[in-house]
Amino acid sequence: MQYLTVLGATGSIGESTLDVVARHPDRFRIFALSGYSQLDKLARQCGQFKPGFVAVADQQSAAILAEPLRALSPATEIVVGQQGLCDVASAPEVDMVMAAIVGAVGLRPTLAAVLAGKKVLLANKESLVMAGGLFMDAVRRAEATLLPIDSEHNAIFQCLPANYGLGQRGGVRKVLLTGSGGPFRSAPLESLSAMTPDQACAHPNWQMGRKISVDSATMMNKGLELIEACWLFDLHPEEIDVVIHPQSVIHSMVEYVDGSILAQLGNPDMRTPIAHAMAWPERVTSGVASLDIIQTARLDFESPDLQRFPCLKLAMEAARRGGSAPAILNAANEVAVAGFLGGRLPFTGIAEVVARVLNRLEITEPDSLEAVQSCDQLARHSAEDVIEQLTGKG
Ligand code: NDP
Ligand code: MG
Repeated sequence: MQYLTVLGATGSIGESTLDVVARHPDRFRIFALSGYSQLDKLARQCGQFKPGFVAVADQQSAAILAEPLRALSPATEIVVGQQGLCDVASAPEVDMVMAAIVGAVGLRPTLAAVLAGKKVLLANKESLVMAGGLFMDAVRRAEATLLPIDSEHNAIFQCLPANYGLGQRGGVRKVLLTGSGGPFRSAPLESLSAMTPDQACAHPNWQMGRKISVDSATMMNKGLELIEACWLFDLHPEEIDVVIHPQSVIHSMVEYVDGSILAQLGNPDMRTPIAHAMAWPERVTSGVASLDIIQTARLDFESPDLQRFPCLKLAMEAARRGGSAPAILNAANEVAVAGFLGGRLPFTGIAEVVARVLNRLEITEPDSLEAVQSCDQLARHSAEDVIEQLTGKG
């Protein structure tokens, strides 16, 4: 029996994870769940999975959760704040942690799981983007097992040779990181500035949380994934080609020196990478239907248009620049996406804000978690400033 903590249980990845857990009660049991604003859903999840612990943001949320919890799962203990999240991520009873909180707030609890040497299933790409060097050092020192949930990275992991890593390349020449191009891949360029949050979140192939959906529309998501792949697989940005593949059937590819290209294919459903990582190195059913290859019929590929997707270009530059550039990029993007979702910023303003913040701030070489977090805070303040300027409220 494997005991699992799901950080971000109420989100899109969290729900898919619990769906896989429910299919295998003989293998997986929930130790703890966490949620943030959706406390009713969290209470229902506790009722179904009867965890030992549930983590929420603060005492106020704990008070709201307490009543439904008494009825649905009286033995579940409530813990609060970042400390609560870190505790349930690192408790000795836990075998596996699904890191599926969205954004920079996921960094500390994910790192707590790493430092406790857990099997960490990483969906929260922002933590690697912000603090990749420190994060990967911690993985090595604590001998944690890090398994990628992001579908592209999970695909790459599946296509890499068994002897990859430990200083060995196993004949790998490069990685082809695929992305659908999102809902605005072929929209007229001049229409982008008027796109609404609901239009941006209407992804053609994937059902996801709103933040990552907007990131997919700007292709910042692919840029964050490029940085994520560099850390996970010890690659330089030049060793990764971003390829637009509108059908989202191939989830990424690895090219070898002999000319072979291996790809992982499947329906666009996150339960496949989640089940893969949960059972690794074994395989279990995920509830995902077989891919109908005849129905799929064709696979298209094109290279990304960096004029249409300036966020991808900014992320590529930040990847090459290194140091604090990815953390600044990530923080500015989080603030800009929240501004867009909240109706303060047009869609095209997201790239504008990120570019201006990167221009304003000095790139440093943060060598501690505190240093990373102060870069993050600085970039957030700067992004708020830029939004005020751009929207004429400064
Ligand atoms: P969602 O927005 O659906 O879920 C986010 C989760 O984080 C929810 O449980 C939410 O709680 C919780 N949360 C939000 N803010 C806070 C906070 N301040 N403190 C603590 N918890 C918080 O996101 P997704 O599931 O789509 O994405 C999660 C992560 O996985 C992201 O990093 C994303 O990039 C990554 N990912 C997602 C994919 C997908 O298909 N969805 C694919 C690949 C990667 P609540 O809902 O209760 O407010
Ligand atoms: Mg992805």
